[in-house]
Amino acid sequence: MQIRGRLTLLFLTLASGILAAVLFTVFWMFRQNMTEAFYLGLASKAEVTIKTVLPEIEKVQQSEPAWIAPEENSILPYQDNISIFNSNYERVFSVHNEAVPVPANDLANIYTRSRYKFDHFNLCAFGMSATGPDGSAYIVVAEGSMDPTATTRLRNVLIISFFLGIILMSATGWYYSGKALEPVSAIIREVEHIQPSDLSRRLQPGKNQDEIGKLAVTFNLLLERVERAFMMQKMFVSNVSHELKNPLTVIRSQLDVALQRERSASEYKNALESVLDDIRNLSETEQRLLHLARVYTSPQSIELSDTRLDELIWQAVDQLHKQFPGARATVHFSEMPENGEDLEIQANEPLLRMALVNIMNNACKYSPDNQVALNALFSPNGRHVLEIADNGPGIPDEEKLLVFEPFYRSPRHLLSVRGTGIGLSLVKSILDLHNIAIRIEDRVEGGSVFILSFN
Ligand code: ADP
Repeated sequence: MQIRGRLTLLFLTLASGILAAVLFTVFWMFRQNMTEAFYLGLASKAEVTIKTVLPEIEKVQQSEPAWIAPEENSILPYQDNISIFNSNYERVFSVHNEAVPVPANDLANIYTRSRYKFDHFNLCAFGMSATGPDGSAYIVVAEGSMDPTATTRLRNVLIISFFLGIILMSATGWYYSGKALEPVSAIIREVEHIQPSDLSRRLQPGKNQDEIGKLAVTFNLLLERVERAFMMQKMFVSNVSHELKNPLTVIRSQLDVALQRERSASEYKNALESVLDDIRNLSETEQRLLHLARVYTSPQSIELSDTRLDELIWQAVDQLHKQFPGARATVHFSEMPENGEDLEIQANEPLLRMALVNIMNNACKYSPDNQVALNALFSPNGRHVLEIADNGPGIPDEEKLLVFEPFYRSPRHLLSVRGTGIGLSLVKSILDLHNIAIRIEDRVEGGSVFILSFN
């Protein structure tokens, strides 16, 4: 069943339950009032009889009437009556001579309680005890049959109202649930039009900041992520094929040229060294691409653990010296916290070390003296700052964000410095994963400083 039907049914069940309870209460109260009023009438009849007939009781005394019981299942012939009984429970007066005798136990109850209501066959009866003119005790009983027409009519009206109410509530429930679900239907219609070829479409969140609006906003955020992932993938595929094709073409043409004719051993050696250089570059590109793909595609599979930041920096410096034998790194730690635990961060050690090595490697690569200076400002609240400075050519403002894009290589260094254009984008992805912000600033004395802010 569709949600609109279910909502209507739920509303109908609840509303009809409430309506039934209200109508029943109305009916019950009406009947109570009717009964109450009827007994009041009987009580006043009994009182009037006590005032008017009892003083004359000696004169109006009748002999006990003979009552003929009706045949079984026949309509009871009992009718309204007022009767007076003496203390021996003998009827001494009755308006209708053939009236049904009142059972002795009811008379006893009237006697002991002095006012007593009871049902008597199809009649309602009210009895009162009273004292006759000679001081002897009497019982006055007023009986009457309550007219059920009013309650029956009311019951019929209420039953019809109930069914009319159900029809009306079904219609309004259906209409309002449709109205309430209209924004959802609109979202469904909009989502149906979103195609993988055009992920730039967004849903209209509407004016109200309600749950549906929030759903649209959440869906838009999801679309944004999907669109980014699609773009990333597209760019990745085109760049990767380009980056791998170029060096392969270069290698092939070098080998073609080398094999065109007989060459000396030194010429072969030079050609092979050049090819080896290109293959190393290719292999480095492939390694970095693999890391980049892992960080991009399954960041959730990367585990973080407690890692001492100062130790990680030293390890990164060691690794830099192994990878870049001519590199010269100076390390300065300021504001060392007393508690060693304050230096612990949540990190994936190999990845974060790789990011630091990449930044330092670049610093050495682009500095004429292959120097890099690290300055760490540790903070007890975990907001450590690590500055990695070089004295290279610096990075112009318009390139400060571009350098973190995959495969971006500054045109200034395209020919002069060997590179893959992946290093800093890998760094950025790894730092994002660790919630570490990175920015590049210019140094007054020349060169640039990469500032890492830990959160
Ligand atoms: P590459 O392998 O080309 O160095 P990266 O992603 O590491 O790739 O760097 C991207 C670009 O950023 C480089 O081509 C270079 O122009 C610039 N760059 C990176 N680090 C520095 C630095 N320390 N000084 C100057 N330019 C830099």
